[in-house]
Amino acid sequence: MAGIYIHIPFCKQACSYCDFHFSTKLTNKQKVLGAIEKELELRANYIGEELVETVYLGGGTPSLLNQAELQSLFDKIHARFDVSEKAEITLEANPDDLTLEKLQELKKTPINRLSIGVQSFFEEDLRFMNRAHNSSEALQSIDNAQKLGFENISIDLIFGSQTTTNEMWQKNLDTFFALGINHLSAYSLTIEEKTALAHQVAKGKISTIDDEKNYAQYLMLQEAIEQHGFEQYELSNYCKNKSYSKHNTSYWQSKKYLGVGPSAHSFDGVSRQWNVRNNSLYLKAIENGTSYFEKEELSEIDRYHEYLITSLRTVSYTHLTLPTIYSV
Ligand code: SF4
Repeated sequence: MAGIYIHIPFCKQACSYCDFHFSTKLTNKQKVLGAIEKELELRANYIGEELVETVYLGGGTPSLLNQAELQSLFDKIHARFDVSEKAEITLEANPDDLTLEKLQELKKTPINRLSIGVQSFFEEDLRFMNRAHNSSEALQSIDNAQKLGFENISIDLIFGSQTTTNEMWQKNLDTFFALGINHLSAYSLTIEEKTALAHQVAKGKISTIDDEKNYAQYLMLQEAIEQHGFEQYELSNYCKNKSYSKHNTSYWQSKKYLGVGPSAHSFDGVSRQWNVRNNSLYLKAIENGTSYFEKEELSEIDRYHEYLITSLRTVSYTHLTLPTIYSV
């Protein structure tokens, strides 16, 4: 049992807090997609004969791809890998992309789960984060997806932002629970190095994160999830009716996964490797047949540390095998 992650390294604009790998220059999108398909071919043996249970298109903004581009990726995956008929196939999507027409196109692809980057239902927050969508697009995209029969939906929300008061955060939570969605990823805003936010804080243009407010909003979240019968199954992930993200859960269960595209990480049970975090270097290396990744073999001590970290992050750890030298 294994997963495939595909990193689509393009976004319409840079969110102020984001330190993922992406480019806002879409000029070489076709070439990068071609290289991703080539990498899928090159690494068809990476997970051996394992059945693929999950495919996850993340980024970046994979909802920038049109139906033909998505279908071409899925065709390549199905041609090279043994994909379960019941596979969870997730697309990370931004609300401004999820028009009714776009969702109708997505319905024709194998995608059966949407992870929508809402972050907040307030314009003030969205402007502060430099998101490409507005509040009504956030609500409309979810409504569109539900109307078209997407049943497996997750949304992302961010708390603790300088612009998010406790009242706003409570309203964001109330709005979320009123939507009848079964999965929530809720993150505390963090100021990552080299982001626009870090730059603004360094220049004194905005304050840093208020830890007390952050903690208060975390407690509000905990109270709300309990009231609504949600389960916190990982530090930032909550669900109802056992609607766990199968893909992310497989990371925490140390299952094998193949990561394709610039900056994508992979794990084959004994080593981890990560692709170069630069679209041009990735393209050049794939075209020239040179190395585009770094790799580390995991020692038993590394595996023990991973066991500890994963156990602390998740509610369930019994599926993990403690490295033998540490077994009691
Ligand atoms: S859309 Fe997502 S990946 Fe792109 S900049 Fe914003 S948070 Fe980062």
